Amino acid sequence: MIRQTEFANKKIVVLGAGISGISVARILQQLGASVVVSDAKPIEQFEQDFTELQASGVGLALGNQNEELLEGIDYLVVSPGISIYIPLVSAARKRGISVISEVEVAYRLSEAPMIAITGTNGKTTTTTMVGEMLKTTGRQIGVGGNIGAALSEQALEVKSDGFVVAEISSFQLEGVTRFRPRIAVILNLTPDHLDRHRTMEVYQQMKEQVFSRQQASDYLVLNYDDIAVRGMAKRASGKVVYFSRQQLLDEGIYVENGKIRLNLDGKKTDICAVNDIKIKGGHNVENALAACAVAYIVGVRPDAITEVLKTFSGVEHRMEPVAEIAGVEYYNDSKATNPESSIKALEAFEGRIILIAGGRDKNTDLTEFMKLAKERVDHMILLGEAKQRFVEAAAQQGVKNIHKVATFGEAVTLAHKLAQPPQVVVLSPACASYDMFNNYEERGKAFKNLVCRLG
Ligand code: ADP
Repeated sequence: MIRQTEFANKKIVVLGAGISGISVARILQQLGASVVVSDAKPIEQFEQDFTELQASGVGLALGNQNEELLEGIDYLVVSPGISIYIPLVSAARKRGISVISEVEVAYRLSEAPMIAITGTNGKTTTTTMVGEMLKTTGRQIGVGGNIGAALSEQALEVKSDGFVVAEISSFQLEGVTRFRPRIAVILNLTPDHLDRHRTMEVYQQMKEQVFSRQQASDYLVLNYDDIAVRGMAKRASGKVVYFSRQQLLDEGIYVENGKIRLNLDGKKTDICAVNDIKIKGGHNVENALAACAVAYIVGVRPDAITEVLKTFSGVEHRMEPVAEIAGVEYYNDSKATNPESSIKALEAFEGRIILIAGGRDKNTDLTEFMKLAKERVDHMILLGEAKQRFVEAAAQQGVKNIHKVATFGEAVTLAHKLAQPPQVVVLSPACASYDMFNNYEERGKAFKNLVCRLG
């Protein structure tokens, strides 16, 4: 039986023929809507085969994108990869068409409460960890967003007594109108994606969409150590739960004498020692604190939370241990696509790092990154479009042993030649991957393949 939703018998155009666009189109079509997927890219530039999609009745309009598409439609669903500032979206708004994002569709479809996790860095790790913790309750848990399955798919599958745990990027928050998660988490806020959001203020406003429709019975989990995030409490309608790695809080989740302590509802519970958390790095302590907060609110037993922290081994491409060769450990942190993330990688080790960095430049400030690199990096191997700017910034801060290479193969071979235990080799690019790869996953896989061939 088809579930009755507001989308039945409606005419919908989905902008963007990527993973999220295709899956939301398929779902809306199954729910009885008449759907066309439109993308400015011509069909030759797509790798996937659209035959099955078309056979299911979804229309395709690839290549030329013009206003005719909007004729008679009720909804325009915008994929996260597409900016809401493009003329077609403005034209749709002018015509009174409802412009929504895939997250908004998922929210409208979901019978289960949603937990939304956002922030500049740490979303995937925290979302995955929360998913693992919540699964221990035996309830049905859907995990989606930027991770694997599209959110609308999860939203449709999970029954009302389960939870949908969603990783939400600021892009996805551009097109929300009713979205109201039961629990929202904001991990941190640093300059990223300013090419698209233009200013930090707009970026922050977008992030705040995650909690702006919450009500008194909802929860907002905030990072006390991030000033901008801490201040959001002023605008919150739900109950604020703070977490902090650096300070003892009157109420919240924090680290005391090396232990994670929950201090909420007038009682204190110790979860485990920080050193017992399996995933490395101070940033992951923050992610763990945030995940504990959510799990506690949902009612996960403290011993189950502890067990997940002790066993969860992280997500691929995020400080992922790859191999140990001749006593040297290799780590794949390809997901570090901005300097803040790479700083976290450098902080996770005491020093003696052979760092491979570079890629498509996001033109963010490199001063702090290079200052830390001067202390912790023995050799810095640079490549990609950002190479020259990185070389200059590194030299300016006095980083020693700067090397320039042309290919990933050369970078790995050089790292292997230079590294002696206890040094570690870390790929943490501080840049996007699009100059040499389709995405950071491909970059990470290429690195892992090259490392495995060394052994
Ligand atoms: P996202 O999904 O937000 O991109 P991930 O969990 O995929 O975040 O982690 C991406 C990278 O960001 C990691 O490799 C790590 O370097 C860095 N990172 C992870 N968590 C944090 C955090 N809490 N604060 C700062 N940097 C982090």
